[in-house]
Amino acid sequence: MVILEACGLHYAYPGGAPALAGLDLAVRRGRRLAILGPNGAGKTTLLLHLNGTLEPKSGQVRIDGAAMAHGRAQRASWRRRVGLVLQDPDDQLFAGTVAEDVSFGPLNLGLDESVVAARVAEALESLRIADLADRPPHMLSFGQKKRAAIAGAVAMRPDILLLDEPSAGLDPFGTVHLLAALDRLCQGGTTLVFTTHDVDLAWSWADDVALFATGQVVRQGEAETVLADHQALAAAHLKPP
Ligand code: ATP
Repeated sequence: MVILEACGLHYAYPGGAPALAGLDLAVRRGRRLAILGPNGAGKTTLLLHLNGTLEPKSGQVRIDGAAMAHGRAQRASWRRRVGLVLQDPDDQLFAGTVAEDVSFGPLNLGLDESVVAARVAEALESLRIADLADRPPHMLSFGQKKRAAIAGAVAMRPDILLLDEPSAGLDPFGTVHLLAALDRLCQGGTTLVFTTHDVDLAWSWADDVALFATGQVVRQGEAETVLADHQALAAAHLKPP
């Protein structure tokens, strides 16, 4: 049932205080897991470890029970299975058009152009932005940019999709659209892990919640159980939903 695990992760940025301090986390296959915690708790740092961008000072990340190896080729294949969508979509959109941006990852895999085109079409459709394929990213609204950045990750067909603050900066309408698109991905078998400091979003949308405080998970489990634990919420400096 567990697809991705972090075991005893420690990490500190150069010259900084520990960002991860012996962190343990289990991600269950096919679920929507909210990593819930206040600003600066280490949520983004955790995502960067889960997809292999950062290497822990100690501890391990495992997928299907196998530990991540830190060679270049192994990291690349890990990142194909564990996609990451950054908080700011401008960090992931560079090309002339949305379709070109979304094709960038699959082209890098060396896939045939026809296979890439099919993947791009499927990813754009799953995010309901097929009509934006030929638009330059800078002409999109913020919500459309978010969905284009997610489509780029989806085109890599990850087993697990990590999303850093997916609803940040979106109005309620944009949030509903985005969550509907993410639900379709989850129903298609993609495991979702997202960071947020929005207790109500975790309450209304997540299946599982990991409460995060100062580099550690203070409690994790099914959303309704974890979010009913007011003591654990207080430890993470959060108010009940
Ligand atoms: P937020 O919700 O504000 O994004 P977060 O929970 O995602 O916060 P992180 O961004 O992972 O937290 O940061 C954890 C700690 O590491 C913070 O104290 C932060 O200041 C520090 N930190 C993050 N990135 C860097 C960096 N590149 N260099 C040095 N310190 C960093």
